[in-house]
Amino acid sequence: MKIYRVWIDEGCISCSLCQDYCPEVFLVQDGEDCIIHEEAARYYLQKAEDIQLASEDCPVEVIKIEESPIEDPCPKNEATT
Ligand code: SF4
Repeated sequence: MKIYRVWIDEGCISCSLCQDYCPEVFLVQDGEDCIIHEEAARYYLQKAEDIQLASEDCPVEVIKIEESPIEDPCPKNEATT
């Protein structure tokens, strides 16, 4: 999965589970709704699995992920023999 965007819908219950999975992306301060770190995008590739797990396990399903519409940014070269 190539993650393009991550955001939090309304309804976060501040359980911190997502932050436990991936503190590079999710920030949950005392009593506040989860927010996405400003620099989170730099971890979307490296931490894709953790981000997806957080989204799947969020108890109120408010973590949303948009996958990149481009599977492979480098077009495959056809063999020309
Ligand atoms: S796992 Fe879901 S409910 Fe818990 S802090 Fe993260 S976004 Fe909020």
